[in-house]
Amino acid sequence: MARKILVVEDEATIADAVAARLRSEGFDVQLSADGLDGVERARRWEPDLVILDLMLPGLDGLEVCRQIQKDRHVPVLMLTARDDETDLVVGLAVGADDYLTKPFSMRELVARVQALIRRIDALAGGRPARTITVDESIQIDVDARRVRLDGEIVHLTPTEFDLLVSLAERPGRVFTRERLLVDVWGYRDGSGARTVDSHVRALRRKLGDGVVRTVHGVGYALGAEPAEDNPGPQHPS
Ligand code: CA
Repeated sequence: MARKILVVEDEATIADAVAARLRSEGFDVQLSADGLDGVERARRWEPDLVILDLMLPGLDGLEVCRQIQKDRHVPVLMLTARDDETDLVVGLAVGADDYLTKPFSMRELVARVQALIRRIDALAGGRPARTITVDESIQIDVDARRVRLDGEIVHLTPTEFDLLVSLAERPGRVFTRERLLVDVWGYRDGSGARTVDSHVRALRRKLGDGVVRTVHGVGYALGAEPAEDNPGPQHPS
C-alpha cells in the first residue's frame, strides 16, 4: 500500500509541485492549505508523514506540529523560509523530525522523505522486546517506544526517541554526528550536524542535562566516561 503523505502548505505553486513529485514517486498525497484543516486532516486520514510549512494562515506550523504530535507520533518534515528561521524553530523544540529551507530542490525533498520513511520501516521491522535503563532513572521501553523518567512518562518525538535508543544501546561509546545522521536519520552525505545538535538539546531539556554527554571535537555519548578520563569511585579488582 502506498505511503500517505500530508502536505500542509498555503503556497499553491509549491504545494502542487511537491504533490506532483511525491505522487510520481508512488506516494499517496493529500494537500491542505491552512493549519486548522491540516490538523483535522492529519487526525482523519492518519498520514505516515507530514510535510509542514512553518508560515501558514489560521494556525501556524508550530502549533499545527504540536497538535498533530499530541494525538499520535507521526514524522514531520518542516519547511521554513530561511536558515535563521530554522534555527529559531529547532530552538523551540516543537518536535519536527527534519527541516528543509526554501527554496529546495525536489530531489532533496524526496531524499529527506525517503530517509524518514526508511526509519519508519526499520522500526516496524521489529526488534526483540527489551527495556534499556539509563542512569537508574530513565527507562526506555523499546517496543512500546515509551520513555519514563523517575517513573513518569516523557513525551519524545519519534526522532528524539530513535536518537536516545541509538546512544543507549551502546553506553559509553562516543558517536560522531555523522554516525548518528546515518544511524538515526538515514543520511549518507554527512550534512545536517545542526539537526543532531538540536535533538540532543531537546533530549537534555526533557530528560536532564546529564543524559547525553558532549565529547568535544568528536560527538556525543551516553553513560559514564571511561575511568582514565574521569577518576570516579574505584572498584576493587
Ligand atoms: Ca507559507
